[in-house]
Amino acid sequence: MSHSTTRQNDRVPANEILGTPHAPSNGKPSFPFLDLKAQYAPIKDEIMAALARVMESQQLILGPDVQAFEEEVATYVGTRSAVGCASGSDALLLALLAAGIGPGDEVITTPFTFVATAGSVARVGAKPVFVDIQPETFNIDPGLAARAVSNRTRAIIPVHLFGLAADLDPILKTAEDYKLAVIEDAAQAIGARYNGISVGSQGTFGCFSFFPSKNLGGAGDGGLVTTNDPLLAERLRILRVHGSQRKYYYESLGTNSRLDTLQAAVLRVKLAHLDEWTRARQQNSERYRALFTEHGLESYLKLPSTPANCFHVFNQFVIRCSERDRLKEFLRQQGMPSEIYYPMPLHLQPAFAYLGYQAGQLPHAEAASREVLALPVYPELKREHQLALVRAIAKFYGTGN
Ligand SMILES: *Cc1c(COP(=O)(O)O)cnc(C)c1O
Repeated sequence: MSHSTTRQNDRVPANEILGTPHAPSNGKPSFPFLDLKAQYAPIKDEIMAALARVMESQQLILGPDVQAFEEEVATYVGTRSAVGCASGSDALLLALLAAGIGPGDEVITTPFTFVATAGSVARVGAKPVFVDIQPETFNIDPGLAARAVSNRTRAIIPVHLFGLAADLDPILKTAEDYKLAVIEDAAQAIGARYNGISVGSQGTFGCFSFFPSKNLGGAGDGGLVTTNDPLLAERLRILRVHGSQRKYYYESLGTNSRLDTLQAAVLRVKLAHLDEWTRARQQNSERYRALFTEHGLESYLKLPSTPANCFHVFNQFVIRCSERDRLKEFLRQQGMPSEIYYPMPLHLQPAFAYLGYQAGQLPHAEAASREVLALPVYPELKREHQLALVRAIAKFYGTGN
């Protein structure tokens, strides 16, 4: 999601700020929004050994590491198959192609997401149909999705945004009623659960991203599609190698979208740590909740809500308030990192203007774009940093001590 990991370069060593957590820093963040170096340091030897193993083998395309990683993710998510590919965006694209979706088809999805969710639909020549979100979860409203079904609809793409599962049961029901594919965009939600079941395992496809800022991030781009249908898995495997089943013979056209072997080797190391990182993200979220309460901020801000049947993996910790822009600027001046996901819903983006949506048409998504603010929640985040951030917010609202 945040395609902004370079922001880390701005970081100041933590020891320079821990003593003076609310010293204004002229807008320079006192600690990073995401600290990938802190994640890397304790697993450096494991990563280097995995990379060396692949380099020594010189098996650089697909091969045993990709296959092993696919099997490990299939087990982790609970699907029959998993097919690695070059990115989360390509995972969506390959899923749409494997489902045979193209020109003349409609695909229902949410406008409050990363561009690739709907961009992939447009890329295969189909038409994205946006329906509004539920304001409490930021995820697609299943009732509105059901009402948007037309005789051209071929699929629904629910996004498990910020690490929280979309309300899948009614979506799966609609899909069954109208014979639609469900392509779960689980790019931000590996390990998240709905009714105790992993996201990416109940739809026709689950699409995952290993972009470095995701909960399971590679050393660059990577993606994967899960499915329980062996025929679809086979189609995905053919599509990612130009549509060829037999080398240099093509029954259909695909693309070049494989998961790099080096990425698979890195991801195998990291997958073994994912549950522990998820717990740390959840603990950080709980700590924010307690700190916001301690600082008398509950009535000023809306904290993320987790429906009882969901296991939230907090790719992002997103709060809401009506004075979001002023708060973000104040935090920036205080040297406190925050980010906006997403400042403009997709139905109002110039790239989708041809679809003809107007401002005001999807009010919950539009309000979310004006009000959301993501705070750092990465596993290695320190309590001191969270306290400094919450204190800065308390200062903004005048509830501070
Ligand atoms: C990150 C992301 C993608 C795309 O993944 P890439 O690996 O960056 O191509 C798609 N959908 C959502 C919701 C994402 O957050």
